[in-house]
Amino acid sequence: MLRKLDYGEADRIFTLLTQTHGKVGAIAKGVRKPSSKLGPSLELFGHVDVLLAKGRGELDVVAQVSRIPGYRIEGDVVRMAHAALIAELAERVCEDRHPLDGVYELAVMALGELSRESDPRRASAWFLMTALDLLGYAPQLVSCASCEKPLAARPAPFSAEAGGFLCEVCALPAMEPVPLAVIKVLRLMASGDLETYRRLKLDAPLMNSIEAVLQMQLEYHMDRRLKSLAFLNSLSRI
Ligand SMILES: [Zn+2]
Repeated sequence: MLRKLDYGEADRIFTLLTQTHGKVGAIAKGVRKPSSKLGPSLELFGHVDVLLAKGRGELDVVAQVSRIPGYRIEGDVVRMAHAALIAELAERVCEDRHPLDGVYELAVMALGELSRESDPRRASAWFLMTALDLLGYAPQLVSCASCEKPLAARPAPFSAEAGGFLCEVCALPAMEPVPLAVIKVLRLMASGDLETYRRLKLDAPLMNSIEAVLQMQLEYHMDRRLKSLAFLNSLSRI
């Protein structure tokens, strides 16, 4: 579930990301009443099995819902903020009632990882890398994004405009080089090796750099700023 909006006296409108129908808007009638049977299962960013009935207008009607056992994110502010980024991105790239290959699976996987990881930033960074790859915006990590020569094993600056890291010849003097350790972790993430990634020791400066690169790349390709990303970054400054 990507988003919820209170409606009328006791109803609520949900934006659902579905496996087979892409993004779907649905209304849950009377869900805010304490007696509602639907209410307890419909948590924000929750993973649910839902039966929808055709409504009169654009919106479907939630007829039945049950929570799929597994992760739970509600109640943890930081994890909710990361989940909001996953949801915002999924919502932004998906069209109404039209599935986009891999987005549902990625969102479910990323929310699951987010609930299990002791550091939610790790799960969030993994999600960003996978989402960039899925959307065709994966950064160039092995060869120079400008001249395509293989990158030497040394720090290199990142340019979202160029689409990746730059070699010494193509880099401008004012550009801040990114440590080699960061580039190496990004390569591991791009290879899809989640098992190894889970076991990596990532300290705060390393994590900050990884996030910065992925966020620069993502924001460059989004036509509007991501609200959830601005919120996350304001949280991490506190
Ligand atoms: Zn170059």
